[in-house]
Order: sequence, then C-alpha cells, then structure tokens
Amino acid sequence: MILKVENRDAVVALFPKTVREIERRVDDTIWEVQKGIDTIVERAAYKRTFDDTIRAEDQLVGLAQTVLSVLNLVSMTNPDETLRDAAQRGTLKLQAFLIDSIQMNKDLYRAFNEYAQLQGKNEALTDEQRRYLDESLRIFEREGMGLSDEKRTEVIKLKKELAEAEIAFGLNINKALNAITVDRAGLDGLNDVFIESLKRDAEGRYILGVDMPTYTAVIEHCKVAATREALWVARENRAYPENEELLKRIIALRDKIAHMLGFASFSHLNLEDQMAKTPERVDAFLEEMRVKSLEKSHQELELWTSEMPEGVKRSSDGKLYPWDLSFIKASYKKKHLSLDEQHLKEYFSAQRTLDELLSLYEQFLGIEFRQEVVTGLWHEDVRYVAAYAQNGALLGHLLLDLFPRDFKYTHACEMTLVSALTLPDHASGSRCPAVIAVIANFPKATATQPALLSFRDVETFFHEFGHAMHALLGATDMVGFSGTNTRLDFVETPSQMFEEWLYDPTVLKRVSCHYQTGEPLDDLTIERLCGQKCFDKGMFAQRQVGLSLFALNCFKSGEVKNLSALDRQLHTLVMPEVIYDDRKHFACSFGHLTEYGARYYSYLWSKVFALDLFHYIKEQGLFNAEVGHRFAAQVLGRGGAVEPNELMKQFLGREPNSEAFFSEFTS
Ligand SMILES: [Zn+2]
Repeated sequence: MILKVENRDAVVALFPKTVREIERRVDDTIWEVQKGIDTIVERAAYKRTFDDTIRAEDQLVGLAQTVLSVLNLVSMTNPDETLRDAAQRGTLKLQAFLIDSIQMNKDLYRAFNEYAQLQGKNEALTDEQRRYLDESLRIFEREGMGLSDEKRTEVIKLKKELAEAEIAFGLNINKALNAITVDRAGLDGLNDVFIESLKRDAEGRYILGVDMPTYTAVIEHCKVAATREALWVARENRAYPENEELLKRIIALRDKIAHMLGFASFSHLNLEDQMAKTPERVDAFLEEMRVKSLEKSHQELELWTSEMPEGVKRSSDGKLYPWDLSFIKASYKKKHLSLDEQHLKEYFSAQRTLDELLSLYEQFLGIEFRQEVVTGLWHEDVRYVAAYAQNGALLGHLLLDLFPRDFKYTHACEMTLVSALTLPDHASGSRCPAVIAVIANFPKATATQPALLSFRDVETFFHEFGHAMHALLGATDMVGFSGTNTRLDFVETPSQMFEEWLYDPTVLKRVSCHYQTGEPLDDLTIERLCGQKCFDKGMFAQRQVGLSLFALNCFKSGEVKNLSALDRQLHTLVMPEVIYDDRKHFACSFGHLTEYGARYYSYLWSKVFALDLFHYIKEQGLFNAEVGHRFAAQVLGRGGAVEPNELMKQFLGREPNSEAFFSEFTS
C-alpha cells in the first residue's frame, strides 16, 4: 500500500499527462481506498491489530493525499487548461469520496474504537503509534461521529458544499489576471531592464500585471503616483466581485458546521487541535504583539516620512495613501540605508543562490544534493534535485518550479507529494523517499541578464526550502505525522528558523556572488543588510496582527459578517496613519482565509519558536554539524509525532520562550 518512489522515472510517472490519465488515477485511487477500508471494517473486533487496522488506515489516507497533492499541483502549475480543469474535477470527486469513506465513516470509527478498547490495551505500542490512535479518535469525534444519523448526513452535505466553494474561491484568485496599461511616462523610476521585460498592448502601452514581481517593482519604485494607485486598486480587487458571495457562503457554512459539531464557533473548532488551542488565547497573543510593537511602528513611520519623496502628498487630514506606503519606505531605505535593491539583485542569480543554499543545508543537516536533468515534467522550467543521506540512502526528490507563467499559482509554497517514512522492521523494513515540490515566482532571465533574485526572493527561497527539509527528513512511521504533518501553528517554525540564517554575515558572504564580477557582497553592504532586518519590524507586526485578527474574526460565531466594516475597523486599529480606501476588496483575494481559516495568527506564533531555535543554534555555531544532526533528528524528523512544545524542550534542553522574539521589537 505504501508508495515507494525510488528513482527519477517513478517521479515523472507521478504526474498524469492526459485528462484520461487524471480520471483513471482518481477512479483507481477510489477503488483501492474503498477496498482497503472495507477490509479494515469487516475484520472481527477481537482480531484487530495496530497494523491491520490503524496503520492500514494511515497508509490509505497517505495514498489518497499523494493523489490529491499531485492533482493540486497540476491545477496550480500546469500550462494546459484542460488538464488543470480535469485536476480540479478529480480533486472534488476524490475529496467527496474521502469525506464519506474515511472522515465521516461510522464503521471506520467503530473499528478504531474496537481496537482501542480491545487489543489496543494489550499490544505494545510506541508513543508515536499511541498518539496516532488517540488523535484519530479525537478527529473522528470532531467530525461529528457522536451525532444522530440525520444530523451527520446534514454535516456531510454541508462539508461537500463547503469544499466546492473553497476550491472555487482559490481558483478565482489564481485566474485573476487584473492589469493596467500605462505609457512610458507612467513608468518613471523603474529601471530599463524591468521596462523592457513588460508586454505591450496593440497601442504600444505597457501592461502592468498584479503578479508579485511586477506589483512589488511598481509599488516600491515607480515615481508616478497615478500608476501606483491604479495598480494598487487592481491588486486589491483581484477576484472581486466573483469571490464576494463565495466568501460569505464559506463563512456561513463553516459557522453552521461548527455549531452542529458542538463548537461555539468555527474559530473554536479550527483551533482546538493547535498549540494555541482557543481563540481567546490567540486574541491575547495578538494583543500582546500589537501593544509591544506599537511604539516601534510609530517610530518607523515617523522616520520614513521625515523626508517625503518627491511627488508624495498627504491627504487633507494629514494621512498617507495606501499606495504610497511601500514607495515611501523604499525611498527612505535607498537614501539612508544605501541599499539599492535593484543593485543588490545582481548578487543573487537564481542558479548561484540555489547552489549555495543547497550547500548550506547539506553542511548543516548532513545531507547530499545532486542536481540532475529530468525531462517529461509539466514544464521545461522545472528542475530536479535528488537528496541523499550520509550513508548513501535516497532521502527524496525535490522538484523546483521557480518562475512565473500565466495561470500559475502566484505565490511561493512547498508541497509534499509523497511523505517520507521510516517503517519499523516488521512492516517493511526501510525508508520511503519523499517527493517534494517548491513553487515560486522569481523574476525570469532577460535577454541581457540571468534570473536575478531580490533579497526578499532569497529569503522566500530559504523559507520554502526550510519546509522542504522538514518534509524531506521526516522519519516517523505514520504518514499522518511525517515531516510537515504537524500542528499548523508550529509548521512554519523550521522554515522561519532557516530564514534567519540569511542575516548572518558569514552566510551572506557565502551566498552572494555578483553575476558579472563573481565578487561576494562587501562587508559594509552586509553589515547594512543585517542592520535592515529590524528596520520595518514594527509596521510588519502591526500588519500581521491586522490580518490575523481579520481571519480570526471572520470565523467567530455568526453566519453573517460585514467584511468591509471589519476590514475598516482593523485597518484603523493597526494602520491609523494610512487612509482607508473603500475601493479595496482585499478579502476576495485573501487566499489564506480558506487554507488557514482562523489560523492565520500561526505565522507570528510559530515565529516565537523559530527565533528561540535560531538563537540557540547560533550560540552553538551555525555550521555545527552535531547541532544540525540533532535538529534534523529531534525536531524535523519527528514531524507531528511529538507535541511541538515537547520537541522544542528536548532539543533546547529547557522550556521554549519568547525572549528572542520580543527583543526584535525593542531593538
Ligand atoms: Zn511557509
């Protein structure tokens, strides 16, 4: 039942290439999972073992998850629209099947209970296995297994409706190709290479899309306020109005389901299995965050606006316009921190950065990467890297899809397609290699330059690779606990920890290399770059608190929410110096609302642990392989098999704390 992807051909074979193949994959998976579940359910109660009941279910879910992830990847990245559509249809069909056959299957719940009550009391289980059993029972209960048949049927119906609405919501965001056109004068301030790379319409006007590279370049560097304003409005209206009603429906459905399952709200349901546990605790955490970063955010804004860039005006009541904020910040940075980000990019070509990133991770974690050529994947831009352990064992396969295309997912993310496993001897006796995709949207090479990454892109690269390492080094024996299958409010911790590395001078020296001269960054630039780290931390924290509160409040009790009023209220709380412009409909493209739900706070929450870890590791020496191996084994390798707080304690030798985190807001 376990999928072992042991070579490149097997990796290529994971990806369906025709609509027919997608349909067959979905049908075969449904058939196989159903057969497996039937076998589990039909077993006599007193004969059950952990392997034939609990592990069997875990591996069936793992199999289905792989197919879902592959389909998800197809719909996010495949250039062929018919394949993307087929993958979406397949996802819907498979998800609907899984709700009935696994999540809401009363017979399966009974089988788990039978095992727990009978053989589960006698069989010698590892802590990980015991935890899997307990967690599974809790998940079944959260799914409403205690409800009457009539109510349970209603919950199933609502969940299917919800899944459809969520998928449509995400697709509308990916499909949104909002753009504006401007003449040459409207691009003043942007560099020639960037301007040359822009497409033009029939009249020769330049087309500016709302993809991240274009948007960031314009909003930070374009001197023409009208261009920034128009592009800001376009970006803040992605998937509007089509997502407005969908989002209302998602909120109402989630609220209804949560109440039917006996929770006070969807936020309560959503947080029960997290480190934070309750919305009240998250509220308190965010309030502490807001208050502690308030002073620093005021100081930052005062500093940046002390010398307004030419052409930037305040409103009649002295406020800033939202499309000016990034421009003001970038101008200040350019002037006083003397770091020209356009120039900085020349030190981070995509290939060189990838090579150095791989070598850093190799050294710290004790693994070996080999970049190899593989054909037959979904696009010619996709690169392949194989990862090996020191003893030569294959750890897994990495697929890198790093450059933007039309209709491709517009952010960066890591996707685990096949989970890494280390099976106990009696089951199979070996390791199952991971298959992992990293998706990003870095600027492409031009006729005169290789692909050059902004410093933020490099940070993103380190971050997503952190997730990839978490998945790659997974060494649990349950798929459900492998690598990144842990609490959502802990899952960002390893990737955020690796982001911190970039701000270490020795690391920066090693990673940077001018694409023409081959020189690394000079010491002064490195010093300034490291100094910049806390430059906008206060404003950043305020914005994150605002977004986290928005998500949390969307899913507090109540089927109907006034999203514009909520947005305005939170904007006033965290950005009082900036005008609220009601032409925006940002919630329509706030994709995290469906994926993360009320748990958007988890980004800040997991950062507490990331900084604690980083400072501990730095004290021991960043290239201390002994610490790296211990980190791989005790934190990354254990995935979700141990409560995050416990993992941290074992690795640190003490309770984790927030000292390192809050020190960033007072420095
Ligand atoms: Zn992440």
